[in-house]
Amino acid sequence: MSIRIPIEISARHIHVSQEDFEVLFGKGRTLTRKKDLSQPGQYLAEERITIRGPRGSFENVAVLGPFRKQTQVELSITDTKKIGVPHVIRQSGDIAGTPGCTLVNGDISIDITEGVIAAKRHIHMTPREATLLQVEDNDIVFVLTTSYERSLIYADVVVRVSPDFRLAMHVDTDEANAFASDTEPFGVLLKLFDSKRYSMDKWVNEVLEGIKR
Ligand SMILES: [Zn+2]
Repeated sequence: MSIRIPIEISARHIHVSQEDFEVLFGKGRTLTRKKDLSQPGQYLAEERITIRGPRGSFENVAVLGPFRKQTQVELSITDTKKIGVPHVIRQSGDIAGTPGCTLVNGDISIDITEGVIAAKRHIHMTPREATLLQVEDNDIVFVLTTSYERSLIYADVVVRVSPDFRLAMHVDTDEANAFASDTEPFGVLLKLFDSKRYSMDKWVNEVLEGIKR
């Protein structure tokens, strides 16, 4: 059986560490909750931060709470080109060796040496949903979206399983525009391979060479 997976669109945003936050907003200051997000415990904060790169900046970027161990800036690939930062696609939390940028609040700024990522597209789900869909944490799957005259199959979608999650696929604004997302976009999980893990590059080479599996 399959399940209708709601697709949510993440605009550029920052997960900030307490340390970096206090440098920008003052010692002892903490995030102010403005609005809860779909994933339990996650929220949009009142505070906003400017992101600066070598070629440009974005003002008033959304800050999401709670605090993370390390600051992480999530941009679309279009965003990274605008401010002149290389794009590196990573899962959330996996930021070693990624590019840095400058964070600004008023007159105060700090340089972060790493943490700018284009988030790898992913689905949050509970263990029960994973059982129904016969997938496991970190499986890579395909998702078929429907939209008027511009349906799209996403490859390289990583499955994230936790009892704390609520079912949702997260894509960035570039990815959402690619399927002309409407008001309540959704997708279904597609199984194109018997094995749970596959290499997309290997598969493409096999197709080019005429090998059928
Ligand atoms: Zn997510």
